[in-house]
Formats: sequence, structure tokens, C-alpha cells
Amino acid sequence: MNKTYNTIIIGAGVAGMSAAIYLKRAGINFIIFEKEMPGGQVNRTSDIENYPGIVSIKGPDLAMNMYKQILNLGIVLSTENVEKIIKKGKRFTVETSKDIYTCKNIIIATGRRPKKLDVPGEEKYLNHGISFCAVCDGFFFKNKDVAVIGGGRAAIEEALYLSNICNKVTLIHRRDSFRADDNLIESLKSRKNVEIIINAIVKEFIGDETTLTGIKLEINNEEQIIPVAGCFTYIGQIPNTEIFKDIEILNNDNYIVIDRDSETKVPGIYAAGDCCKKQVYQIITAESEGIIAANMIITKENTKK
Ligand code: NAP
Repeated sequence: MNKTYNTIIIGAGVAGMSAAIYLKRAGINFIIFEKEMPGGQVNRTSDIENYPGIVSIKGPDLAMNMYKQILNLGIVLSTENVEKIIKKGKRFTVETSKDIYTCKNIIIATGRRPKKLDVPGEEKYLNHGISFCAVCDGFFFKNKDVAVIGGGRAAIEEALYLSNICNKVTLIHRRDSFRADDNLIESLKSRKNVEIIINAIVKEFIGDETTLTGIKLEINNEEQIIPVAGCFTYIGQIPNTEIFKDIEILNNDNYIVIDRDSETKVPGIYAAGDCCKKQVYQIITAESEGIIAANMIITKENTKK
């Protein structure tokens, strides 16, 4: 097998897959690595209704459509975990769980992962009542009482999704104002089976030997226990950039800094999507950054010919 490529894409979320589509159509020799399933965070999103041109689509369906598109182009995802990048002159060595590769360009599209609350009981009841994905696990709590923690767009959207399945949804937020569009909040408030608790701090997850049964909150200096069968935490994300610490492309919050060409300060290393420091974290902006990175690489190759 030829282990030298023009470009290596790390991550097959929407940013990485978008870059792959453009590189393939331009005839660039590349490989794309993904350690889990294609689609990344989009797989954890319920209904997407702000993607221009598509009125409404489930996150996993959008991810699958994009995956089919790359398969139709003959692109093969390589299931490998990238462990290290080393710069060697104008080339890079990329070490994965399976092999060592060399390339001229890298597009990092490793996304973000859900942030945890770090309170007692969280580890114990993870996957035993606590989840970070309403689309994946909501059905297990059909007709039961659940809580959603967070006051951002993800929390509100997923609370709406769960209110269609569960008996009762309690949204718990640490402040009294939200980081989501008013229409979403109004929509949530109008649901009869939704309760919103504000200014509430999660102190502990409680339960029996194996299963979550409630959440201990502190509200106005008083403790209160909310009985729930499930809890979905949506309190933001952490970029998946730990393996890039040595190549000096991260800011203090561990996000990758890119310019308007999606390039980092290391020539030849590009980044796209939610692992980057930016203003707008949307599917369409991730796709756009991936496509810009791909086109910069295509232009570089074409101007050499
Ligand atoms: P976010 O906007 O950063 O909101 C995180 C929420 O969690 C905030 O309300 C925050 O409270 C709360 N929080 C953070 N740490 C906490 C802690 N330790 N304990 C309790 N609460 C805590 O995150 P997000 O909702 O995941 O959204 C991230 C980005 O993705 C946003 O730009 C959003 O617009 C975008 N997004 C887009 C879509 C879509 O287009 N369909 C869907 C989902 C998300 P404070 O407000 O007090 O800080």
C-alpha cells in the first residue's frame, strides 16, 4: 500500500467529509481517517431546521446522506486513530494506531466532545441514566421523567425533542437567561410537559446501585432533589485537539487557530469545523471551512503544474 499522500484528513464529521468531496473531485491523492462513525456530532443532533435548502432533517440522516455521497465518489474511510503528527521539513509524518504515513498537507477536522459537569455520581451513572445524546438514548426514557441540563441552543433543542417522547422534561439552567433564540425558548415554554428551573446548580447525581433516580440541585442556597429516570447534559463542548499540543497551533482554550484560508500558522496544516476557534459553530460553517481548506490545497497543486 502506498503510504504517501498529498493530503491527510483527520476526522470524518461534516467538515472532513466536505473537504474529502472537493479533494476527490479535483483528483487529489488523499486519505481520510476516522476513529468512530462518520458524521461526528451531527449524529447527536435531533432535528436540523436551519440548514439552507433543507426544510427539516434528522442529524443522523444528514450524516448518512453525506457518507453515501462520499462512498458514491469512491472515497474509503480508514478506521484509524491518529496519535501523532511530526513536521519533517515541508512534509508531515502522521502516526496512527495502525501505521505511519507521510503527506504534504493535513486537514484537521476532529470536532468537539460534550463537556461534563464533574460532580459526584456523574461517572457512576454515565450510560445508566446519564447521557449526552437525546437522539441516541431518548427512546430508552419513553414515557419517563427526564432532565436536560444547560441553557444553550443544544439544551433547548434536545429538551424539545425529548418532550415528544418522555412523560416530563425538566430543563435545569444555572442562570436566568439563555443562549438560544427566543423562538426556541418560547416553543419549549409552551410544551405542557416541560418545566424550566433557573438559577439551579447541579450538586450531585443520585441513585441506587446501578441506576440514576434523581438530581440534587442547589437553588437559592437550598437543596432540592428532582426525581428523574434520565438526565441529558448539554453544557457545551471541549475541542478534540489533545494530540496537536506539540505543533503549536492551539490557543489557550485548546482550539485550533486558523486564518481565512482555513490554514494554521504551520504552512500545510489546515483545520475545519468545531475544533477551530471561531465565531459561528454551525454545520454549514464547518462544511465551508473544510471546503476552503480543500480548495487552498487544490489551488496550490494546480499552480505548481
Ligand atoms: P453553549 O451555547 O456554549 O451553551 C452551554 C450552556 O451550558 C450555557 O447555557 C452554559 O451556561 C451552560 N453551562 C456551561 N457549563 C456549565 C456548568 N458547568 N454547569 C451548568 N451549566 C453550564 O453550548 P451548546 O448549546 O452546545 O452550543 C454550542 C454552539 O453550537 C453554539 O454556537 C450553538 O449556537 C451551536 N449549535 C447550533 C445548533 C443548530 O444550529 N441547530 C444546535 C446546537 C448548537 P451559561 O449560559 O451560564 O454560560
